[in-house]
Amino acid sequence: MSAPVTNGIVKGWCPDAWRPMMAGDGLLVRVRPPLGRLARVHVLGLCEAARQHGNGQIDLTTRANLQIRGVREDSWRPLIDALLDLGLIDPDPTREARANIVVASDWRAGDDTHRVAEELRGRLSELPDLPGKVGFAIDAGAAPMLQDAPADFRIERAASGQLILRADGRDLGAPLSSGTEVDQLIALAHWFVESGGAASGRMARHDAPLPDWAVGRIPPAASADRLQPGGHPFGIALGLPFGRVAATALSRFVEAETVIEAIRLAPWHIAICETDASLAGHPDPANFIADPSAPIRRVNACVGAPACPQASVQTRDLAHRLAPHIAGRLHVSGCAKGCAHAARADVTLTGRDGRYDLAFDAHAGAPPSRAGLDVAQILAHFGAA
Ligand code: SF4
Repeated sequence: MSAPVTNGIVKGWCPDAWRPMMAGDGLLVRVRPPLGRLARVHVLGLCEAARQHGNGQIDLTTRANLQIRGVREDSWRPLIDALLDLGLIDPDPTREARANIVVASDWRAGDDTHRVAEELRGRLSELPDLPGKVGFAIDAGAAPMLQDAPADFRIERAASGQLILRADGRDLGAPLSSGTEVDQLIALAHWFVESGGAASGRMARHDAPLPDWAVGRIPPAASADRLQPGGHPFGIALGLPFGRVAATALSRFVEAETVIEAIRLAPWHIAICETDASLAGHPDPANFIADPSAPIRRVNACVGAPACPQASVQTRDLAHRLAPHIAGRLHVSGCAKGCAHAARADVTLTGRDGRYDLAFDAHAGAPPSRAGLDVAQILAHFGAA
């Protein structure tokens, strides 16, 4: 079977392993590790697969998924077989497409997040066909930590301690009784489809009144502090610059640090290394960020040209050079779509016709204060030349 190549300009569609997307640098294959956790053997196997069948780079997305890029069409099937052997994708393409679940990375075996996420994974066949970007957040720790991660249906903790089901875009959630959380989550997904939600594409844009049983009355508990690089109850949390790591660097790190038992994936480009012991060395700072105040942590930059066909400019080298010279958040976007950062940034550079538009306190594509700049002009503007 050859890869069912789909062009990346289709709106509202979301690639996965069985339905890769053609990007400017080849096929993009998305992997959604169960519960966002990879044991050592899975990390090393994934790195080997990315080297053999892709361009050797692994991306961590804002939904805590992984992407292998630069896959040739004739490498796609061998890559799928490798991922199946590792148990990192579902043999059933329909189930894989529905496993759009982001899980709070602080789960422990047997807790509510683990229990509900495992049950949902076991009942994916009961879900309706949903628009490709629609997903679930299982965020049932002591305080919600995924409120700024993309999801349409959320199970969260309320201040009272009970679990609630909250439709994205609504401030309040409906109470859940223990043992029926997944029943109600699945029922809400069916309501979304039956009430015409597919036309709006996402729950937050679907303004049909919720069914009585799902009407929110309870606010979620205050959000937990955003996870940062540094010490973590499970070991150490490391940032990945722009969410990307070279497979060679990752496998070398995990092989050298034999105390690492597993890696958990979190939104915000963070990988948590599970270990009870200290690391033998310092993580290579070119690939792993251990300092939460590192300037690169304040930067968002999409993959840009040439990897994305929509981009007319390169993004990440420029972002790297500018990072130490900009105090607030910097967003360098290959085009006005702004994939890497949906919110405003203090400084935004948007690619257009091979040059950059500069805007302040703006989204990608916002009216610029200076238009049509080249790299030298930008570096000079910020004293980075
Ligand atoms: S924002 Fe970047 S990644 Fe997204 S479509 Fe534009 S160039 Fe491509």
